Amino acid sequence: MFYENITTCEECDFVNSIPPLRRGERFRCQRCAHVLVNVHKHVSVRIMGSGLSALLMLAMSLSFPFLGFSSNGIERTVSLFDTLSVLLSQGYLVLSILLSLALFVFPVVYLLAILFLVWSFQHQYVLKFVQRYCVRWLLVIEPWLMVDVFLVGILVALVKMSSLADISLELSFWAFCGYVILLLKTMVLVDKRWLWNKVAGRSAEHSALAMTAKKQGLIGCHFCGATLSGHATHCNRCGHSVYSRRPRSINTTVALLVASLVMYIPANVFPIMQTTFLGSTEPSTIMGGVLLLWSLGSYPVALIILFASVVIPIAKVLSLGWLCWQSRYPSRRLTKQKITLYRLTELVGRWSMIDVFVVAILTSLVQMGNFMSILPGPAVLSFTAVIVLTMLAAMAFDPRLLWDKDDVTGASLEGGEE
Ligand SMILES: [Zn+2]
Ligand SMILES: [Zn+2]
Repeated sequence: MFYENITTCEECDFVNSIPPLRRGERFRCQRCAHVLVNVHKHVSVRIMGSGLSALLMLAMSLSFPFLGFSSNGIERTVSLFDTLSVLLSQGYLVLSILLSLALFVFPVVYLLAILFLVWSFQHQYVLKFVQRYCVRWLLVIEPWLMVDVFLVGILVALVKMSSLADISLELSFWAFCGYVILLLKTMVLVDKRWLWNKVAGRSAEHSALAMTAKKQGLIGCHFCGATLSGHATHCNRCGHSVYSRRPRSINTTVALLVASLVMYIPANVFPIMQTTFLGSTEPSTIMGGVLLLWSLGSYPVALIILFASVVIPIAKVLSLGWLCWQSRYPSRRLTKQKITLYRLTELVGRWSMIDVFVVAILTSLVQMGNFMSILPGPAVLSFTAVIVLTMLAAMAFDPRLLWDKDDVTGASLEGGEE
């Protein structure tokens, strides 16, 4: 059974009382339907199983050839390490650091932290502050794990090269697929409130009512869901700094959005990739790559790149900008629709990284001097900056601000749905 009495929703500030949950049951916020608790059956054993297997698969995917390349009698195979070392040797330090963080460092830290935590739940002598530290890091790096995006990037790279060369998938590629699936499975099993409940116990009981924390003079910790007294500055359960509404949330979000818009210009004007074929070098921009794929008849891949690299970043900036406007000057539109838009922007943002990964994969794979070679263009870094800035903007935005209008107008639980 999972016991947690009172929790505050991090998306709408509504104080929920959670009934005792059996394993396998989930609990949604009574106001915004955000999933607050989702405790799986045999969760510790399953996390142990999938986490350890993911690490094993990663070790395997690093030990064998990853992709093979052959064109006009020239053959070459690369390992997963080569994707990093080629970038490093070509002087793309930032890109290789980003790639190693997103593919190896963050996932391994995440897996080790969750495995250690699950193990430590059976061992009472493990210091509580070590456990807390692990949970905090785990939750912070979670949005930055991008192995699934990389996997799709590989498939796009295959299609992109199909007219110039044959690319074969080697043993490591299949191990990498296993690693991605098992890592995602582990991430699905991890529940934030379950972890804090295990590490730091139930959140302190408050005689809170079924309304927003702010209305009752309380503060909901957005990091662990604890409900705290109104003058708290730090959460007594997870230790994170707390605030009723994130200070300067809209200003920070808008500043990050403006910065990402500025970076969007060089990202689209300058070439993202430089292809050398039989001595002549041809730069291609993001849009150029899309048009080339389209002319080659790879319509689905052209559409994926168009959506991921052009449409999503701009749509994300526009929708977050609109949400900021709405938090300050709310319209009569339903808050539920706005919150759906917010969740969507959070969900799709990281998929824009596909094109960066495609360029990184092709750079490591296609290095045959003047015959054929591919190098990243200057737009790669500005495009990565666009994605990171929009992701930070979405994190800086406090969705609780969207609901405050309903509180002022007194719209009740049912009223919000009309
Ligand atoms: Zn909620
Ligand atoms: Zn907390």
